[in-house]
Amino acid sequence: MNVRSCDLLVVGLGPGGGAAAVAAATAGLRVIAVDRKREIGVPVQCAEFIPLPLSRHAMAPGVLAQRISGMTSVLPSGAAVDTPFSGLMIDRAAFDRALAGAAAAAGATVEAATSLVALDAGPGIARLRGPAGESTLHYRVLVAADGPHSTVARLLGLPPLQTVNTRQYTVPLLQPFDDTDIWLSPDYPGGYAWLFPKGDCANLGLGMDPEADDDMKTPLDRLHRELVAEGRVGADIHARTGGAIPVGGLRDTLAAGSVLFVGDAAGLTHPVTGAGIAAAVASGEAAAAAAHSWIGGDAAALAAYADDMADQFGESLARAVRRRVELMRMRNTPAFADDAMHRRGWIAFDEYYRAAMTV
Ligand SMILES: Cc1cc2nc3c(=O)[nH]c(=O)nc-3n(C[C@H](O)[C@H](O)[C@H](O)COP(=O)(O)OP(=O)(O)OC[C@H]3O[C@@H](n4cnc5c(N)ncnc54)[C@H](O)[C@@H]3O)c2cc1C
Repeated sequence: MNVRSCDLLVVGLGPGGGAAAVAAATAGLRVIAVDRKREIGVPVQCAEFIPLPLSRHAMAPGVLAQRISGMTSVLPSGAAVDTPFSGLMIDRAAFDRALAGAAAAAGATVEAATSLVALDAGPGIARLRGPAGESTLHYRVLVAADGPHSTVARLLGLPPLQTVNTRQYTVPLLQPFDDTDIWLSPDYPGGYAWLFPKGDCANLGLGMDPEADDDMKTPLDRLHRELVAEGRVGADIHARTGGAIPVGGLRDTLAAGSVLFVGDAAGLTHPVTGAGIAAAVASGEAAAAAAHSWIGGDAAALAAYADDMADQFGESLARAVRRRVELMRMRNTPAFADDAMHRRGWIAFDEYYRAAMTV
């Protein structure tokens, strides 16, 4: 069997793993980065919005799709509230591909169609399965950037993350606009529906708590038909996707021995909005820096990574978890249809940031 070694093994080449691989290879570590997808970034499982601070990652050819300047939040009563909201719509496949390309250009070995299948009991030994068969890899640090259903976490015996499900269509956009539209409704318990414009098409989707309801097709088709009737979007569906979004907040264990969890695998995705690209990139870069310091002799660097993530993201994630729980507790009461409840549960409203409500 083929046996290799590296300083840093990155499992998963979404935004978290891609960012970690670029940063670590640039810092001079010997990096091997793998993803089980045959083509990096494909299929896309994303509504493709990134906040402005990530625009440096949107400069690669084919990544930037259009600018966003606002958010329209539609409450259960139908009242629509506009708030400023700056960001970019991207081609997510091109975004992930650009990061993987930058990692390779910085010296990382990047391997698609290659899965992590086992971790040996001894420290730092991973089994990979790729086009050439199984191989063994000795690593010093492993970055687990393998998404909401992390294989690494499972192999280490760590608990799975709580997730919601999503379903999304890409549809023709008949009236171009530069807002993200959000629908808050008792019809989407534990989530919301969205229409994000992307030039001449748009991503129309919704997320819901699977325990509350697992039929997402009926409400998504209904919203699609309404928007077609309003002349906003076309009836065609160019693409269908979906996927899980972690909603339980930070994973308890972010650093397990020489393994660091980043992005969705770390539970860094915002439990209310479902946004996770920015946190994945930030955590990937931080994990690479920690790995570099640890390999350089700083014995506390990996534990410090976990503390750093908790400091940066813990409070905002904990608030979002609380708001979800508060809202879901009202699910079987008439108050669940009240605008006031949903204002408390959505980031565009001042009420979201105030002290916890009593329910
Ligand atoms: C429908 C939907 C819409 C979303 N919209 C937005 C949005 O508009 N903006 C936003 O910021 N966030 C959005 N998100 C969340 C965002 O997509 C994630 O937070 C982000 O992708 C997390 O990046 P990551 O690198 O941590 O994980 P991922 O992007 O999930 O990447 C994990 C990678 O690991 C690979 N992998 C898994 N297991 C293995 C294995 N055993 N071996 C090798 N490779 C493996 C997978 O193939 C995958 O490529 C959305 C999510 C969904 C589902």
